[in-house]
Amino acid sequence: MSYEIAKALLLRRGVALEDIAEIVYTLQVVYHDDLTLEKCLDSVKAVLQKREVQYTLYTGIALDEMAERKLLPEPLQSIMEADEPLYGVDETMALGITSVFGMIGLTSFGYLDKVKPEIIGRLNGSRGKRVHVFLDDLVAGLAAAASARIAHKSDSANSYPAK
Ligand code: MG
Repeated sequence: MSYEIAKALLLRRGVALEDIAEIVYTLQVVYHDDLTLEKCLDSVKAVLQKREVQYTLYTGIALDEMAERKLLPEPLQSIMEADEPLYGVDETMALGITSVFGMIGLTSFGYLDKVKPEIIGRLNGSRGKRVHVFLDDLVAGLAAAASARIAHKSDSANSYPAK
């Protein structure tokens, strides 16, 4: 099942769904008194059920792994190794995930891209043989989408976002 493949891919790259749920919790807890980490995890799982999300993960993670093995053609290989800030395709791809639950997640994605909390910062800061050009943005996209999903399901969606 492709959900299991996507989950295993993330885990292979050092990202547990719980790591993403923690970010969702941080984003949403101010708006929902009854929010639990478990609800956030459920929301991450629901996002990961979407085929377009799975396909986006396959694509971005494949590019990261190919860059680690130096299999990409130039100039892409060099751009990926340098994590060139103006590349931008990683953010564009991740926004596809965020928009699965509407454009409300855009603000969260922008915030996560800027602040890089928790696992996103760890991925972004890892250097050497590891390439996480796409993965940090994909994780931010997943967290933003799961966060938007919670906002849409809630009565307090109107108060979102207020950060
Ligand atoms: Mg990136």
